[in-house]
Amino acid sequence: MNALLPLPRSLRRPAEPGMPIAEVETPTLLVDLPALDRNIALLASYVQNRAPGVRLRPHAKTHKSPDVARRQIAAGAIGVCCQTVGEAEAMAAAGVADILLSNQIADAGKARRLAAIAGQSRLSVCVDDPSQVALLSDAAMAAGVTIHVLVELDVGGARCGVLSADAAVALARLIVGSPGLVFDGLQAYHGRAQHLRKPSERQAAIAEATRLAAAAAGQIRDAGIACPTITGAGTGTFAFEAASALYTELQCGSYVFMDADYARNERDDGADVPHFEQALTILTTVISTPLPDRAVCDAGLKAMSLDSGPPSLQLYPGLDYAGASDEHSKLTMHSPFALQVGQKIHLVPGHCDPTVAMHDWIIVHDGSTVTAVWPVARGW
Ligand SMILES: *Cc1c(COP(=O)(O)O)cnc(C)c1O
Repeated sequence: MNALLPLPRSLRRPAEPGMPIAEVETPTLLVDLPALDRNIALLASYVQNRAPGVRLRPHAKTHKSPDVARRQIAAGAIGVCCQTVGEAEAMAAAGVADILLSNQIADAGKARRLAAIAGQSRLSVCVDDPSQVALLSDAAMAAGVTIHVLVELDVGGARCGVLSADAAVALARLIVGSPGLVFDGLQAYHGRAQHLRKPSERQAAIAEATRLAAAAAGQIRDAGIACPTITGAGTGTFAFEAASALYTELQCGSYVFMDADYARNERDDGADVPHFEQALTILTTVISTPLPDRAVCDAGLKAMSLDSGPPSLQLYPGLDYAGASDEHSKLTMHSPFALQVGQKIHLVPGHCDPTVAMHDWIIVHDGSTVTAVWPVARGW
């Protein structure tokens, strides 16, 4: 290797504490630490005051960051949810003591990796098929550990999950009879409800989810099986699950960062529901201004996810988002707004979770200066 060339960017920290934001290389993922900490404190105090006894288990798929998880746990969270085994490994390695893989695994290799995690953290995982129960039991027995298992019920999300209370009872019985496994209860997350725009639509969706989960838990208990945990909820609906008197755990993820898509959810102004701040931005540099009304910057489809719509330019009245390609975004400037080549601007991503997963580092700042650089646990 040529010793004169710097390391590839994924292997070196792209900024150091003390550096002014204006000097940070782009495109880069930035987190406003005071705003992040306010979001963490706001949800924690809401749950403590409004739903005492309900546990907060934030979803780490949003941030993939042990540093963020530590702050959530310091504020009262009991642990985290993860969506991938790789996220769970990163959280366990950082000392997170209670991890829920809110997802299914379907191969022996991943079951072995989960069993290794269960050797040091309390580990729970979802199932919706008997074959997953067998894989987990075999891996737990081979490693000499206990794995906690939740049956996932489809409560309207139309993703994973069994479709009936009878099927949930059958799986619960199988788990109870499987060595190395402990049945914890139900995963009852309604993903599609999170971005229904009207609060009344979200409320109706969670009322139905609660009805389905209560019926399944009732049938499991009627079969003589304890069902202590009913877990679910996200940033769009947690107030309803918190008030349900059924859910025992909340899995909100996006609230730590927020994004332009969540900003489009209508709020019920009468309800005392926390208002989270945009803590995540993509810093990008204007690399060309070929026309008086066109600026082109260096953050494109490979620096932020556009699956839930374009980034927001609300910080810059006078700029409109005009489209992305791999490594470019086009911005339309309305007079008298005029960006110069070399100027840096902040974009608020459309969808926080997949945007974070495109970056190796989170550059943490206080509004003007870098205060920390946190790694992102990418991969599966
Ligand atoms: C994504 C997800 C969440 C968190 O949802 P947000 O909308 O990001 O708060 C919770 N639980 C599960 C199972 C998820 O997939």
